[in-house]
Amino acid sequence: MGSGNGANSGIILALAVHPRTWCHICPMGTLGNWVSRGRGSLVIGQGCVSCQACSKVCPMQLEPYRYAARGVMGDNDCIRCSTCVERCPKKALSFDCEGDKKIDSSAA
Ligand code: SF4
Ligand code: SF4
Repeated sequence: MGSGNGANSGIILALAVHPRTWCHICPMGTLGNWVSRGRGSLVIGQGCVSCQACSKVCPMQLEPYRYAARGVMGDNDCIRCSTCVERCPKKALSFDCEGDKKIDSSAA
């Protein structure tokens, strides 16, 4: 009893308000990011037509197409599983080893 129940209630309430709350607690995104480092960033090409098919299959509930203007995925929760790459009907998604360099240079 006590703080454990309070923490559980807090998590349940947070999940009710914001379904992705668990993603901020669960270490899988960070672990997946670490494991897939050699793959490079997810690149969103100019062929994207915003059909949103990628977001419907993403296991992390991400929306790659929202980063089309930037050209590179900007959400660190992306585990680079390639599910969206395989699903995209326009072949607009890919992994580019130069992707991280693009992000770094745009931040400077
Ligand atoms: S599935 Fe491909 S074309 Fe459709 S929104 Fe995603 S990146 Fe764009
Ligand atoms: S690579 Fe996987 S985790 Fe990343 S946006 Fe695509 S489907 Fe989601």
